[in-house]
Amino acid sequence: MESWIQTYNRVLTENCLGEGNGNSNSLEYWQNRLFKNMLRFFIPFSLVALIPSVIYCFSIGLYVLPVVDTIAFAIIIIISFKEGLKIENRKLIFIICAYVMASVLIYYVGLKGPGLLFLYASCVFAFIILPRKYAYGWTVVNAVICLAFAAVLHWDLGPSPEINMIDAVEWLIISSNVIFLSLISAALIPQLFDGLSETIMKQNLLQDDLAKQADALEMSLLEVKRKNEEIELFAFVASHDLQEPLRMVTAFMNLLEKKYGEQLDDKAKEYIFYAVDGAKRMELIIFDLLQFYQVGKQTSEKEWVDLNEIVADFILLRRKRISDTQAKIKSDHLPKVFGQKSAFVQLFQNFLDNALKYTQIDIPPEISINVVDHGNHWEFSIKDNGIGIEPASFDKIFEIFQRVHDKESYSGTGIGLAIVKKIIENLGEKVWLESEVNKGTCFYFTLQKHPN
Ligand code: ADP
Repeated sequence: MESWIQTYNRVLTENCLGEGNGNSNSLEYWQNRLFKNMLRFFIPFSLVALIPSVIYCFSIGLYVLPVVDTIAFAIIIIISFKEGLKIENRKLIFIICAYVMASVLIYYVGLKGPGLLFLYASCVFAFIILPRKYAYGWTVVNAVICLAFAAVLHWDLGPSPEINMIDAVEWLIISSNVIFLSLISAALIPQLFDGLSETIMKQNLLQDDLAKQADALEMSLLEVKRKNEEIELFAFVASHDLQEPLRMVTAFMNLLEKKYGEQLDDKAKEYIFYAVDGAKRMELIIFDLLQFYQVGKQTSEKEWVDLNEIVADFILLRRKRISDTQAKIKSDHLPKVFGQKSAFVQLFQNFLDNALKYTQIDIPPEISINVVDHGNHWEFSIKDNGIGIEPASFDKIFEIFQRVHDKESYSGTGIGLAIVKKIIENLGEKVWLESEVNKGTCFYFTLQKHPN
């Protein structure tokens, strides 16, 4: 339910700014808005002056003044609430009413009343709500009214002997101050509006520019998204469809060796070995590529995952390698985190496999897994005492297929850390590292404590 104050405000807004409440990008809108607020406050506030002065005027037998004031007030009410009137006409009638009130006040009360003040206020209202080109015109109106009253005084045409007693020259001197103030205001107030107008124009240009840029950005984002989808689809299809022929190559090479092994010389057997080895490596790349493609696409349920279990499972899975290399893996007690278990398994597996792989000759791997509580998130670190990484390669190693160590000595596909990065970024988290060549590497990553 709309209160009467809200209705009052709404009707004024509709009458002064139109149904859709206007376009705030123009100076005219702000002038209309000022006019609306002028009316909004003028009506209740003018009662404060009108009621006592009407009572006073009646008590001293001055009837014309309160009648004119009341009529002007009624006209202002009508132009505020009557539908269908043009806003320009509403404004003009308002200014005329203000001038009439000022003139009648001057005529009937002379220097005793607030006539000159009203005259000045009328032209300031006009400067604010009407086009700036008329500003000096309203100053001329003020001057004409003051001169007209001087003539009234000069020829004793006033409504009472008291008024006729005022010296015309004295009136001219006093009223010239109002003309001076009107002139100053006519020069300054429109400048204020010029500044406002310029700001609005600049803002409009900026808004247009921003909208164009946003459109362009959206287009390029869509394009990038489409390209990414295309690439991912291509990688998926290619790697998926390559699996079958590759398996055939390996199987037939093995068959060839089995069936005709005796007829083949050592060179032929060596070629078959390289062919099978190449096919196996390709199979590994395809497997990793598919894993990379799958990140973020798994549909498995999210759950609370105990990271201690993930580390324990890894140790069990790699027990042979761990015992062969005499590796030591130490871990803090790890928290439970919320998400897809397979993603956390991949994270830890990739980091720990690398820590077991990139080791220094004759130095058994020592790996420690630590966690630090950072309030709303955990910071994990996986540190090794391996061969380390040059700082220049810190960013590179997270890119797909980027390997920064000797490919003959260390097997791999260069996809593991790309998978890690994709998983972590999909979770909105961070991954980074510290490393010193021949001393070791420490990978850090963060995980949220609470599910999003
Ligand atoms: P891969 O191990 O299959 O080559 P990754 O993406 O897991 O691929 O790693 C990319 C590269 O980063 C590795 O080839 C290696 O050069 C370097 N790297 C990763 N982890 C370590 C580590 N713990 N110590 C030293 N180098 C590492």
